[in-house]
Amino acid sequence: MDKIRMQTPIVEMDGDEMTRVLWALIKRELLEPFVELNTEYYDLHLNNRDATDDRVTVEAAEAIRRLRVGVKCATITPNEQRMSEYSLKQMWRSPNGTIRAILDGTVFRTPIPCPGLRPFIPGWTEPITVARHSYGDLYKDTELRVTGPGKAELLFTGADGTTMRETVYDFEGPGVLQGCFNKDSSIENFARSCFEYALSEGRDLWFSAKDTIMKQYDGLFKQTFQRLYDEEYRERFQAAGITYFYTLIDDAVARIVRSNGGMIWALKNYDGDVMSDMISTAFGSLAMMTSVLVNAEGCYEYEAAHGTVTQHYYRWLRGEHTSTNPVATIYAWTGALRKRGELDGNEALCSFADKLERSVLDTIADGTVTGDLAVLMDSHPAPVDSETFIGAIREKLEASL
Ligand code: NAP
Ligand code: MG
Repeated sequence: MDKIRMQTPIVEMDGDEMTRVLWALIKRELLEPFVELNTEYYDLHLNNRDATDDRVTVEAAEAIRRLRVGVKCATITPNEQRMSEYSLKQMWRSPNGTIRAILDGTVFRTPIPCPGLRPFIPGWTEPITVARHSYGDLYKDTELRVTGPGKAELLFTGADGTTMRETVYDFEGPGVLQGCFNKDSSIENFARSCFEYALSEGRDLWFSAKDTIMKQYDGLFKQTFQRLYDEEYRERFQAAGITYFYTLIDDAVARIVRSNGGMIWALKNYDGDVMSDMISTAFGSLAMMTSVLVNAEGCYEYEAAHGTVTQHYYRWLRGEHTSTNPVATIYAWTGALRKRGELDGNEALCSFADKLERSVLDTIADGTVTGDLAVLMDSHPAPVDSETFIGAIREKLEASL
């Protein structure tokens, strides 16, 4: 069989620990035998980030802006303990944070529907995608512990010297205080990437916030979505047979629970953080969740939603065979290859991605699963190690090609 060729490279970002082990295994067993992989390789291993003063992360992000499609392995975000474990020069920032800041996009997370694994909410027959704004709000807040009586004010001093001032609260005793912000440009990019993603997926878009309480703050989000929809997207949505609507977040929660799923649910930063954990848990596990960062320029970065699975890696280093679930990492690759295929008009590549995903689901349906899935399934299959699981997927894939 001739290997499938790729006209344009994708950006390949290797990572750390157990996911790095799986990365090599997935390439060797499931990709390279079938596809003439054309990638621009960036090694985001913590040692290489340290050796390059983290330039490699910035270069990878810039490469995604140039080539439009990237696939990333999970990476360590250093903390004190990692500083000594890896003898780091500096506590480098989270690579995802760096890449997000350069691409300025939105993260879309979708559960992978898994045969034999029922969602905790039985009505959810279609996956729900959470689109989380990943800039500002509580994640860039300024906080003060107020120790006694006094007046808290919100003061804005314009570049031209004009000021705006509001009283936050006249404290009669101790308390606590918080200030946060967002920017028109980031909110607009968020809204635009949600509309573009809904169109590319052919699925309805919901946005929810709390503009009855935060009239200015959440009001700006709501107005931005509505303005872009009216000015640029309404006709394209109608042509695609999909809808956009805004509803208060409390109403959205109730409606989502009663729905059959299938929608893309856009949420502000904190709401998206909480709701994506709720959705992934309700559907099964983080290892069965796809994650893609999309920006307004139409760049796509695919990754797994979980981390580097450190505890499994330490066991692997001791020579054990671990039962680490590679599905989210395989889907990061299939997502990137399919998107490359779509952009290049490469049908063979798209079809390969479909078949690989099909082979994963058929393997699970046969009861060949890793430990995290085995405990969730009514049939309680005996778990296999990652190599055996990937080997079983390869057999199915070969049969389908
Ligand atoms: P984690 O790697 O997601 O693992 C947490 C636990 O979840 C694991 O111990 C394991 O549970 C289970 N798990 C996660 N993925 C699994 C898989 N594929 N198969 C089977 N079980 C899986 O999160 P963490 O331990 O908090 O973080 C580890 C490192 O990852 C940290 O250095 C962190 O900085 C990094 N991280 C990176 C990313 C990213 O690059 N996107 C995201 C999050 C965290 P059991 O041990 O019970 O089997
Ligand atoms: Mg969270």
